[in-house]
Amino acid sequence: MIPKQTIDEIFDAAIIEDVVGEFVPLKKRGANLLGNCPFHNEKTPSFTVSPAKGIYKCFGCGKAGNSVNFIMEHEHYSYPEALRFLANKFNVEIEEEELTSEQKEAADERESLFIVSNYAANYFKKQLLETDEGKAIGLSYFLERGFREDIIEKFELGYNPDGWTAFTDEAEKAGHNLKYLDKSGLTIVKGEKKFDRFKGRVMFPIHNLSGRVLGFGGRILKTEEKSAKYLNSPESEIYHKSKVLYGIYTAKKSISKENICYLVEGYTDVISMYQAGVENVVSSSGTSLTEGQIRLIKRFTPNITILYDGDAAGLKASFRGIDMILQEGMNVRVVLFPEGEDPDSYAKAYNTEELKDYITTNAQDFIRFKTSVLIKDVGDDPIKKAELVKDIVASIAIIPDQIKRSVYTQECSSLLEIPEQALINEINNLLRKSVAKQAKKTSNSQQHDELPDDLFLPEEFQNQGAQQEKKDEGDLAHWEREVARLLVSYGDQPIKIELLGENDEKIVEEVTAAVYIIDNINNDGISFEDGTCQKIFNFYNEVLESDRLPTHHDFTNHPDQDISQYAIGIYAVQHELSPNWAKHKIFTTTEEMQLTVAVVNSLFAFQLSKLTQLILKNQEQLKTEKDADKQFALLEEQLNLQQIKKQLAAKLGRIILK
Ligand code: ATP
Ligand code: MN
Repeated sequence: MIPKQTIDEIFDAAIIEDVVGEFVPLKKRGANLLGNCPFHNEKTPSFTVSPAKGIYKCFGCGKAGNSVNFIMEHEHYSYPEALRFLANKFNVEIEEEELTSEQKEAADERESLFIVSNYAANYFKKQLLETDEGKAIGLSYFLERGFREDIIEKFELGYNPDGWTAFTDEAEKAGHNLKYLDKSGLTIVKGEKKFDRFKGRVMFPIHNLSGRVLGFGGRILKTEEKSAKYLNSPESEIYHKSKVLYGIYTAKKSISKENICYLVEGYTDVISMYQAGVENVVSSSGTSLTEGQIRLIKRFTPNITILYDGDAAGLKASFRGIDMILQEGMNVRVVLFPEGEDPDSYAKAYNTEELKDYITTNAQDFIRFKTSVLIKDVGDDPIKKAELVKDIVASIAIIPDQIKRSVYTQECSSLLEIPEQALINEINNLLRKSVAKQAKKTSNSQQHDELPDDLFLPEEFQNQGAQQEKKDEGDLAHWEREVARLLVSYGDQPIKIELLGENDEKIVEEVTAAVYIIDNINNDGISFEDGTCQKIFNFYNEVLESDRLPTHHDFTNHPDQDISQYAIGIYAVQHELSPNWAKHKIFTTTEEMQLTVAVVNSLFAFQLSKLTQLILKNQEQLKTEKDADKQFALLEEQLNLQQIKKQLAAKLGRIILK
């Protein structure tokens, strides 16, 4: 714990222009300083430091903060790590609040384990590069594998000689306590006996974010040997397998820069890819992916691509990892290598361009990946197909972000030829179930009925009886955002509405989504609760009145930041997740139909929840209103609202959607 007073001192000492200036060349520009943003690629500087305000802001990528934020962002430090870094730099002494004796002991033990591990890494390195046995057995193996010498050095690879106690003896001679050699797992101690865990193996040290050695993986060299090909250090005070990723230290800069992280199976894949020029690669080495490992990656990028070898057994087992990534709100893709190849072998057989090219052209999103794995079992069996759909829908329901969910729902719908509405209903069921489960967990009564406000559909749609005002408000907030999103994303796209005429004859009308939405809302005279949604509606309305359709540029370059930020947010997601829709504007008939359904349903849901809210508000007012005239006026309004609601429901009933 760093005391509050010390934190204040650090902030006082760490002057923003000095902190930033260390990493970014800055030029004076009026009262401010200007430089090239270190957080995104730019040619003309838009990264501004204000000494007066003690902050930085990039007008290109929007990143902003104070001295400590800068170090956190730039060095990927946690808050206390950044504070310590700055304290050290600006000579502020950190008087840690008094540690308990237990805390002290734990700190001592951790430090001792770090020291032993560091010693071991250096010893193994020396053995590999400087002894006859190491060179003849270990180094020649690595070179035969095709590892370059600079890469062997970079990853600090080593060799543990093939004597029973070669390492342990040397370490004890150097003054290291057997207790810590044992706890680190480098030495196995059994009563009076002790021996090297990794005897006769080539060694892969495992580093933490700041490059300290936490543990090791060791690969056996004798082929006839019965023992496991790879051995790993056991869990210790410093080596928590579930929180460590092999390669994170060498990969972190590149992960940030490329804004994507590749996840491979093991040590050799990481090293070969790195050597081939793909540096943003890590592995969970020997364990299945954990939440802690995913969060570690999330500090650098929201994008993970998992690389599997062509004949990877049990791809289904990977589904859990994929769901965990989705649950963290991250984007996940999967690349399958050709049969007989893994990232290691592919990186060796092809050049950097070919490797990169293979990865980018073969990356599938999780829907396509799951489908491709499961479809083999499905054949023509409709029951199996239903299971496949449920499986994919379950993954979509895990995604926290509503917009992403709906984009994936659309993709799933067109890929598997299932009506989007059916998928939406199923997702809603799953969401409701998980909410109910959570409510049960956290309390026993009160929160029971509360639903998150980003469900797809209001209760009316699912005929589930009793409603609550709260729920409706939540639905309203969701639906008006959905209507605004459809306007910005697809307002210029045509939809086909089939109406029943006077004599029940079919009339097909083709209009743009925007015209349909805006006319309807203007007719009802309803407004949006959310300021930004209303602004978007007004802007669209204005442009339409001059007989034009606004372009994406009109939105992203709009002088009102609320509008431009909102649109940029939507287009960014769209671009990434749905290249066909956003880039090429190719609308197949099924997509057009889906858009029609989405527009009609969302608008209807918005109108309905808005009216329900107005009716409830009116009823509240009626309860407290004492003045007879005003009461009468409220009653009139009540009837009017009910009437509109009825008409609305009737009208929707008459729209027939194919
Ligand atoms: P080979 O030369 O026979 O191909 P390899 O050393 O490349 O052997 P593989 O069996 O191909 O190893 O394994 C693929 C990847 O999985 C390697 O990067 C390896 O580091 C990793 N790996 C395999 N087993 C383990 C394990 N028990 N613990 C950690 N990593 C492992
Ligand atoms: Mn291999």
